[in-house]
Amino acid sequence: MRLESLALRGFRNYAQMQMDCCPGVNLLVGDNAQGKTNLLEAIGYLSSFASFRTRREAELIGFGQDFAELSARVQTARRELDLRALLFAGQKRRQLFCNDVKKKSAEELRGCFTTVLFCPEDLQILRAGAAVRRRFVDAPLCQLRPGYGAALAEYTRLLEHKSRILKDRLEYPSLLDTLPDFNERMARQGAVIIRYRARYLRQLAALAGEYHSAFSGQRETLTLEYRTVSSVSDPCGSLEDICRQLREHQQSHAAAELASCQCLSGPHRDDFDALLSGCSLKSFGSQGQTRTAAISLKLAERELFRRDTGEEPVLLLDDVLSELDAGRQDFVLNELKSGQVFITCCETDRLTSLGQVFLVQQGTVAPME
Ligand code: ATP
Ligand code: MG
Repeated sequence: MRLESLALRGFRNYAQMQMDCCPGVNLLVGDNAQGKTNLLEAIGYLSSFASFRTRREAELIGFGQDFAELSARVQTARRELDLRALLFAGQKRRQLFCNDVKKKSAEELRGCFTTVLFCPEDLQILRAGAAVRRRFVDAPLCQLRPGYGAALAEYTRLLEHKSRILKDRLEYPSLLDTLPDFNERMARQGAVIIRYRARYLRQLAALAGEYHSAFSGQRETLTLEYRTVSSVSDPCGSLEDICRQLREHQQSHAAAELASCQCLSGPHRDDFDALLSGCSLKSFGSQGQTRTAAISLKLAERELFRRDTGEEPVLLLDDVLSELDAGRQDFVLNELKSGQVFITCCETDRLTSLGQVFLVQQGTVAPME
């Protein structure tokens, strides 16, 4: 999988830019606040049709602009793709195109162009709250499994609606009549989500374990444990069983949901534990161990993409290397030798020999000789 060229208009701080990318390492160098992360965000957007930084699409449109246009030419093993996204300020819906054919939704384009992002926040995957870990699982699954993206979007919509009902019911008691229907639909979508997550985490854990072991000189073993709704006995099991167990959990928490006016039952509270040689990383891991484990998780994610799609996803590395010591940098860089990579950094010292350097300056991108 390769990004051949990228063009932006009215996207973040890029009024207008066009770049031809090289097949190997593309090093995006520039001072702070010049547009390096914005560029990775644009590439990521054309892959997942969502920003990794914000859920509010309007933020992507350049200040004072009416619309943003993102286009990319992508080469895959089978075909060449022209991807284009138009985002509008105001109410007008975004428009997505592939080879000039307008698509109804992002679902139709999922998997066309796959990327794996690695950013400084990822070093926090194992330190921060559960939301970060859910995103870490959701983002790749949405790209790899269109059915997952659809189920998650529907579940999120239902969850927001149900939460509103729980809050507004004191004023409008008749809203409660709709709850059973919401619960049933959430149980069905929830079962789909749980099964996908459990299977993905099982594969991810096996690979991450291998990376971590190599990384730590075979001294530590990394394992992952999926934590979902407590009534679910086998999250990899059949959809009917999971769905039934989700209904049971909903019933046993119905009173508590009414009392707290919150949705307490369902996979929106999922999490996973990472254990290092059996000990919780979050509680006992050193900084270095936590980072090493986080990197192992990301490398595993990339390998799963490669196995699943038969193609190397494009890697987007935002400012990650600067956080690591030289030994760990070398380990990561060694793992990156294949495929196409976009790396942002402020200084080039160690890296210039890796590939093509681009200077990013106030929303412009120019190749350096
Ligand atoms: P750093 O090295 O600090 O991470 P960076 O080069 O990655 O910097 P970016 O995050 O890509 O910087 O770009 C930040 C700049 O983009 C900021 O100056 C910000 O004001 C500008 N910016 C962000 N959103 C928009 C927008 N919608 N319109 C115009 N400019 C924007
Ligand atoms: Mg940045």
